[in-house]
Amino acid sequence: NLVAVAIEAMGGQGIPRSSGLADELFAHDGQITKRPLRALALSALAPRPGERLWDIGAGSGSISVEWALCGGTATAVEAREDRAATIRTNAASFGLAHRIAVIAGQAPDALAALDAPDAIFVGGGLDRAMFDVVWSRIVPGARLVAHAVTLETEALLGELHQHHGGELMRVEIAHAAPLGRYRSWETARPVVQWSTVR
Ligand code: SAH
Repeated sequence: NLVAVAIEAMGGQGIPRSSGLADELFAHDGQITKRPLRALALSALAPRPGERLWDIGAGSGSISVEWALCGGTATAVEAREDRAATIRTNAASFGLAHRIAVIAGQAPDALAALDAPDAIFVGGGLDRAMFDVVWSRIVPGARLVAHAVTLETEALLGELHQHHGGELMRVEIAHAAPLGRYRSWETARPVVQWSTVR
């Protein structure tokens, strides 16, 4: 249990209350929304106890886990079977298996039978067709947050922002890393976040 091991390593002090937990607390294969961007995602998703999230392209399930830690329930939709299994592992590690449903399947088809959510996070696979289905399924007041890394998805978010408003934000994070005897900034790929309310 990764969480138990990490909590032990941190001196047994329990899980921090803030969003943006250490990446090491989650099993993942590299496809995970990294800590700083995850904190920004959760801030935009604005979870409240009892609310329901659709986490589309859930990857490791880290967004679902942090949502559920705030007292809500999540449905994690992930196309890859191996990652769906990882999501189940992470949900169990955090003691949240009862509050995170995992669907191994392709969105938007996999969304058909789900109850309407209070918030939606799209971390992968967003295209016009998926957006149209998601937008038609959610009720007024629902929050939608999407992250884009590719130029293609970024262009789509630009159009959607023009049409539907909300907040469009570009985040470029750099970490200090060794450069010979010195240090230098290593810049991660920029991520564009669009968040809006239906
Ligand atoms: N937020 C995740 C990382 C997402 S990576 C985390 O924190 O772990 C994007 C994921 O979207 C990948 O795992 C990919 O398999 C999945 N994906 C892409 N298109 C999809 C689709 N149409 N339906 C479901 N999952 C999809």
